[in-house]
Amino acid sequence: MDDIPGTEPQPRLVSRKAVLHAALAAGVAVPVALVGVPALARTAAATGTAPELTPMCDDGDDPTPPQTEGPYFKPNSPQRTSIIPAGATGIRLTVTGYVFGLSCLPLSNVLMDFWQADANGAYDNTTYRFRGHQFTNAQGAFTLTTIFPGLYPGRTRHIHVKVQASGRPVLTTQLYFPNEPRNNTDPIFDSRLLMTVRDVSGAKQASFDFVLNVPQVPPTSTTKPTSTTPTTTTTTPPGSGTWAAGTTYAAGARVTYGGRGYVCLQGHTAQPGWEPPNTPALWRAE
Ligand code: FE
Repeated sequence: MDDIPGTEPQPRLVSRKAVLHAALAAGVAVPVALVGVPALARTAAATGTAPELTPMCDDGDDPTPPQTEGPYFKPNSPQRTSIIPAGATGIRLTVTGYVFGLSCLPLSNVLMDFWQADANGAYDNTTYRFRGHQFTNAQGAFTLTTIFPGLYPGRTRHIHVKVQASGRPVLTTQLYFPNEPRNNTDPIFDSRLLMTVRDVSGAKQASFDFVLNVPQVPPTSTTKPTSTTPTTTTTTPPGSGTWAAGTTYAAGARVTYGGRGYVCLQGHTAQPGWEPPNTPALWRAE
């Protein structure tokens, strides 16, 4: 079912990852309702329209494919979310997204090391211009502030990145831009690595979600998932009760829904459509 490298992506089923992305993004930015959920998932890449949010999830998300590192990686980049050096020119570009594991749970504290060419297609191999690393936050999200990378001979437009969950192998790959003429001739290009890109007020906003080859444990395992870091430590989880939209739940809260028990993985205010069976990023069945 994978898209054929070198071609534009075919429409996909809305994946669990896409649903989670929309829910997570809404949980941060849109606390009212699911209506108008930002269309940030990569499934929107082909048409620019929002994926239809649905409680049906499939587990067909393959791990993000690796790509060649290329000749220009430099270790020991500075930690920063903006890699734009002072005085640099270029179209401003923001890349946002989430990093998930194999069970579609977001991964926090994942190391992401970005590097790219400047607006003229040149890499800085002397200092660290357009290079920097950061870590995903407690919700598994990242934001990179940079510029639209320039082209250089033999390649289509791209951004390099290394992604590593704690104690796991490094994923080295590249991100691509839709509607680039050279996407059809660059032998390294892979449409599975296309970002969703929008033009907003002279700048570009891109989105991409990574799936790492990180097993995520079932509830009965003694190993703790990496994504359950509480965002608050002073909130007392509500006691047992029936799940209800509009209720604010803290990590660790336990509810019943449909006769089954669930434990809250991330603090949030419940909304219609976020019932525990539909939101594995928020609720784990007990
Ligand atoms: Fe490159």
